[in-house]
Amino acid sequence: MFSKLMIAVIVAVLMIVTSCLFPTVSLGKIAIAQVPGVYPFKLGDFTITVLSDGTLPQDLHTLLSNTNPTETDRLLQKNFLTNPIEASINVFLIDTGDQQVLVDTGAGTFFSPKLGGKLQTSLKAAGYAPSEVDAILLTHIHTDHSGGLVKAGQLVFPNATVYVAKPDVDFWFDRANATRFNVAEKYFDEAAKTVKPYLDAGKVKSFSGKTALLPGITAHPTPGHTPGHSCYVAASKGESIEFWGDIVHFASVQFPKPEITVAYDVDAIAAAAQRKKQFARAEASRILVAGAHLPFPGVGHLRAADQGYDWVPVDYRWREP
Ligand SMILES: [Zn+2]
Repeated sequence: MFSKLMIAVIVAVLMIVTSCLFPTVSLGKIAIAQVPGVYPFKLGDFTITVLSDGTLPQDLHTLLSNTNPTETDRLLQKNFLTNPIEASINVFLIDTGDQQVLVDTGAGTFFSPKLGGKLQTSLKAAGYAPSEVDAILLTHIHTDHSGGLVKAGQLVFPNATVYVAKPDVDFWFDRANATRFNVAEKYFDEAAKTVKPYLDAGKVKSFSGKTALLPGITAHPTPGHTPGHSCYVAASKGESIEFWGDIVHFASVQFPKPEITVAYDVDAIAAAAQRKKQFARAEASRILVAGAHLPFPGVGHLRAADQGYDWVPVDYRWREP
C-alpha cells in the first residue's frame, strides 16, 4: 500500500515537472490579424462612428520643438511610453439619418503599404460604402487627412462634396508658399494629388469664417497648424461634439505642455496659441472632443491638471441602442 502510494506520488511529481519543462502548446488558437477599428456611439439623433485608418510610428525626438529629448522622455515615461510612439489616425463618420458625413479621410495609399490607409476596411466593417458618403469635412489639407480621397488618381468618394476652408485651398495651391513659409514641396504635390481631382470635378466647397455647413454641423476656423485648419462641431438634441483635427498630435506630451510644437505645423507659434485657446475652452465648457491623432477612438474630455491638462477618454461602451 505504502509503495503504491509512493509510486503514485512520484508519478504525479514527474508529470508536473515534465509539464513544466515541456509545456504543451495550445493549437486551438492562432494569431489573427487585428480586426478593423470601428467605434460607434449615439449623439442625439446622430450616430457617430470612429473609423481607424491605422497607426503610425512617430519619432518625437526629431519631430518636436519647444522641448528636448530629456523632457520628452520624462513625459513619455509618465505615460508608460517610450520613443518612438505610435500615433492613431482617426476618421469620424457622422450619420445624421439623412446624410453620411466623413470628417477627414486618413492617409490612403500615400504612406508605406502597412502604414495608414485602413479607412476603407473600417468603413466596410461599419456597414457603409464609399458611394454612400455625401459630404467630407477636411479639417485641413495634409496627407494623413486628405490622402484617402483618392486611389490611383480616382475619386474614392464619387458622390461626396468636399468641404475645406478657403485659406487652406489658397495656401496649398500656391507653390510659392513652399519657400515663403519653408514648407516641404511634397505637401504641395500631395495636395494636388488628393484635392485637385475633386476641384476639377466641381466637388469642392470652400468656406471662410464660422460657417453652418449642414444641418447640425458647423465649421469653426482654428488656424495655426495650417492656415485653414478648422474644427467641426456636430450637435443634435442638446448634445454636441467637436472634431479637432490636429489641434493636438501627441496626448502624452502636449496635454501636459501645450506649448510643445511639431514639425508638421505650418506656423508653430500660431499652432501652440490655438492649442492653448482650445484646451482652455474645452476644459471650462466640459465639451466632448474628438482628435484625429489621439489614441483610438480618440474621443474624450479635458481636465485641468497640476501641469497643463489630462486627457480623459470616454468610457468604453458596447451595447445595442
Ligand atoms: Zn494630422
